Amino acid sequence: MSATVLDGTAVSHSLLDATAARAAAFAASSGRTPTLATVLVGDDPASRTYVKMKRSRCAKVGIGSRAVELPASTTTEQLVAAISALSADPTVDGILLQHPVPAHVDERAAFEAIAPGKDVDGVTMHSFAAMAFGEPGFHSCTPGGILRLLDAYDLPLTGRRAVVIGRSPILGKPVGMLLLARDATVTYCHSRTADLAEAVREADVVVAAVGRPELVRGEWVKPGAVVVDAGYNPGNVGDVEHAAAAERAGHITPVPGGVGPMTIAVLLEQTVRAAEAGR
Ligand code: NAP
Repeated sequence: MSATVLDGTAVSHSLLDATAARAAAFAASSGRTPTLATVLVGDDPASRTYVKMKRSRCAKVGIGSRAVELPASTTTEQLVAAISALSADPTVDGILLQHPVPAHVDERAAFEAIAPGKDVDGVTMHSFAAMAFGEPGFHSCTPGGILRLLDAYDLPLTGRRAVVIGRSPILGKPVGMLLLARDATVTYCHSRTADLAEAVREADVVVAAVGRPELVRGEWVKPGAVVVDAGYNPGNVGDVEHAAAAERAGHITPVPGGVGPMTIAVLLEQTVRAAEAGR
């Protein structure tokens, strides 16, 4: 068997087109473009590239962006103050604090300075709780993008055994909660899981969200399973041994071109939604 590729680039384009139309409608009715503020602390080249990419995608769909760049020496108090100012600014609709921040900064305190109505990256405790309770709110973008991608291919989740590898607050934990909300039977695996291979062998849906190149071996994949590789490691390598896994899986995401484009598309859609809600 050779798996169907879940084409995140193609699916993201239809979401981006719809977002561009909504951004134009908002601009026509309000007289201003929806605006995303990006906050970058320090000089990490990868973070700088991610922010640049997100701002360029904003421009392509008619979303304005405002770049706030702070030195690596920024204190928690200074960062919280900068984000609080953006939270209070009526011309800013969404706020993205690029993760990670320098080690001496309390990232949680900084995230919590984002007003819930502007948390378009879905990183606050408010957004997490709303998502977990099934209440309206913004999703963490990568988990939200994964669900949108699965839905675009009409992949059933009810009653399926889903194994999520990774339990970070922005990716592993929330994607498990979203799968649970869709009536999947969810197991979380992490660095202390005793037998990862055995857990994966049972899974109808596998989400790899670790950051370890090819940790998930192809031979572990249950024939016909849906494999979502959210990992991104240097050299465009995911967390799944792609070629071998694709021989057994029913559906699989590529790296790149799977989860990554969906993440940005959800960020932009949520920015326009924030602008519409604040009108
Ligand atoms: P993270 O905060 O470092 O979390 C990694 C998780 O993996 C932790 O829960 C950790 O377990 C678990 N883990 C580590 N080693 C393991 C092992 N040997 N077996 C099983 N689990 C293990 O990372 P993250 O921010 O969630 O990101 C994960 C990956 O997704 C990275 O490659 C990142 O680049 C990628 N990512 C992609 C996008 C996108 O848009 N495509 C967005 C965000 C992240 P413990 O909790 O026990 O430490």
